[in-house]
Amino acid sequence: MANRRSFIIHSFIGALAAGLGCRYGYATHVLAPGMSLPALPAELPVIISTWNHGLAANEAAWQSLLHGGKALDAAEQGVMVSEADPEVNSVGYGGLPDASGKVTLDACIMDSKGNAGSVACLENILHPVSVARKVMENTPHVMLTGAGALQFALDQGFEQTDLLTDAARKAWENWKASGARYAPQANWENHDTIGLLVLDTEASLAGACTTSGMAFKHPGRVGDSPVIGAGLFVDNAVGAATATGEGEVVLKTLGSFLVVELMRQGHSPAKACEEAVRRLATATSVHKQMQVGYIALSKTGETGAFALRPGFQCAVRSAKGSVLLDVPSLFQD
Ligand code: ASP
Repeated sequence: MANRRSFIIHSFIGALAAGLGCRYGYATHVLAPGMSLPALPAELPVIISTWNHGLAANEAAWQSLLHGGKALDAAEQGVMVSEADPEVNSVGYGGLPDASGKVTLDACIMDSKGNAGSVACLENILHPVSVARKVMENTPHVMLTGAGALQFALDQGFEQTDLLTDAARKAWENWKASGARYAPQANWENHDTIGLLVLDTEASLAGACTTSGMAFKHPGRVGDSPVIGAGLFVDNAVGAATATGEGEVVLKTLGSFLVVELMRQGHSPAKACEEAVRRLATATSVHKQMQVGYIALSKTGETGAFALRPGFQCAVRSAKGSVLLDVPSLFQD
């Protein structure tokens, strides 16, 4: 394990030195099929997030912690990077619209004390995660949706922004021209939702999850991402988990809550994610185009992830550096 870890960290440093790496300048470590994700550094803080856009999000979360932010601040600051990035076409600005051409956003946030806030089907607000935080902090509720969520955001001082970029509009027009039938596709458009979990130096956990949901979804559709226990769950005594992929099956199995409960029963984060994927594969109708990925972070700083199919990646940040990992999966294609 020590060698594996040092390879990962040296990959990171080497890639930076050589000016290599992906868009964000980090190395990717590819796990051989069947190998489980290494339990990365247990030193605090630790940040883990979904997909390759998680690398940039992790850095913002890391900076937040360096500047005195707590886990909750870091989680929010981290995912805000993806929300504002027009090239991430499944989150916030630049997110692909629903079938009617509207960008509607789902987001939630949860802290170490069990507080949670969420918004669903929110339009025209750049940072839905920050509205979710306001729901948590300034209302007695957990979730606000649609027009009510937008009114709340405006009352809280958020400004309206047009979130539909030219690229997203063109993709929607092409989709309409192709017959306009909604069909989920595994790993398509490099799925997707950013879910980010933080264990700060005080060993407090928090998490955030934000998405524009499945591209070209039915208007009004809400996925797993803003639903506490489905898209995100944090239990400061045990650990935290978040999900990405086809939200319907995550909702049906309350995936993130399940991952945390499996950790409570003694499973490692990696094993808990794997068991939650296996549950989903047996308890729901899994189809060929379906992808789901879970990531988890324990109270002691151990990370883990598992997916239904190959193609899911997660990004981990610790004092030792930053890595992007290919996540093992239940099926091999
Ligand atoms: N889980 C998100 C949803 O169902 C989408 C995704 O992560 O790909 O809305």
